[in-house]
Amino acid sequence: MSNTINMSLDDVHQLALNALTSQGFSTAQADAIATTVTAAERDECHSHGLFRIAFYVKSAANPTTDPTATPEVKLTESSVVHVNAREGFCPLALQMGLDPLRDKAMKHGIAALAIHNVYNIAALWPEVEALADQGLVAFAFTGSNAYVAPHGGTKPLFGTNPMAFSWPRANQPPLVFDQASSVSARGEIQLHAIDGKPIPAGWAIDKRGQSTTSADDALAGAQLPFGAHKGSSIALMVELLAGALIGDLFSYESTQRDTLKTGGPCGGEFLIAINPMHTLADGNVEAAQARAEHLFENILSQEGTRLPSARRFEARKRSLANGVNIPEKLHAQVLDYT
Ligand code: NDP
Repeated sequence: MSNTINMSLDDVHQLALNALTSQGFSTAQADAIATTVTAAERDECHSHGLFRIAFYVKSAANPTTDPTATPEVKLTESSVVHVNAREGFCPLALQMGLDPLRDKAMKHGIAALAIHNVYNIAALWPEVEALADQGLVAFAFTGSNAYVAPHGGTKPLFGTNPMAFSWPRANQPPLVFDQASSVSARGEIQLHAIDGKPIPAGWAIDKRGQSTTSADDALAGAQLPFGAHKGSSIALMVELLAGALIGDLFSYESTQRDTLKTGGPCGGEFLIAINPMHTLADGNVEAAQARAEHLFENILSQEGTRLPSARRFEARKRSLANGVNIPEKLHAQVLDYT
């Protein structure tokens, strides 16, 4: 096991902020990214924690990326909010778009947020969790680069295309799931490659279309959608929602645009927020939440089950009490950017 350094969450945030501002990110962009990276370390989602800083720095090397961009929020009479990220990174665009999305959903019952021209290499649970914390049911979708072969094919076309969902619960954190439409997130394969470990069979195929357990061959080949044709259809839906529906790039177009092969995906993120006060004919949100709790109890009454996000919230409690343990090698790598 590699040696680790115990850090407070404030120190993780400061380290990430210093690294990014030293690499030419504006304070606003760097601060927003540092906040999501710190949240990922806090919830033990390591592939989106400090490990991501190198990817942000690499993505910023793309001449089309602007790590100093100030996103522009556009409000219309409709229930759709637009944020033009202006080729900056997603965390700042989200910071600026989530409150207007919440306000529209509160007013109209259902609202959407379309984030355009955005580099997005973050997890999606922070945004749907933030909306559920305000009583809304939420969905988020984003494409990435061409990494995943469509079911039956052998060449990368879809992104790893995550989708996230959240459900507000009374007096406790919301239920959230956030999952790639590939068998594994790409970051997991990258972590296996760095550690020189094989990946499980079924995650990916090599360049010749053969199943592989080599992380390097998988990164050069194609990842596979989860659940065969079913995950492939989810990936397709995400391409359409976060691409065609909001006039942004498909994952393969993002790859074509990345001429320097920085790996930074540029496209759209699409969010939907629903106010249960409006979907319930009687407006009785308490009763609806109580019914949902019965469903959750029924799930948990079966041995071997847990609710999605339960692991994260347990990790969060630990991290808030004890700080987080960061591998020395990773700490040194991020410190090197300052
Ligand atoms: P995982 O397979 O690790 O987890 C997916 C979801 O399933 C999580 O919500 C998790 O909850 C839940 N879960 C896991 N195990 C169980 C279980 N036994 N019972 C019930 N629920 C369970 O995630 P992925 O590898 O698919 O994705 C990882 C992350 O990568 C996501 O946050 C995604 O947004 C991000 N990503 C980002 C991309 C981008 O381009 N921006 C591209 C692709 C992925 P819990 O968290 O509690 O474990």
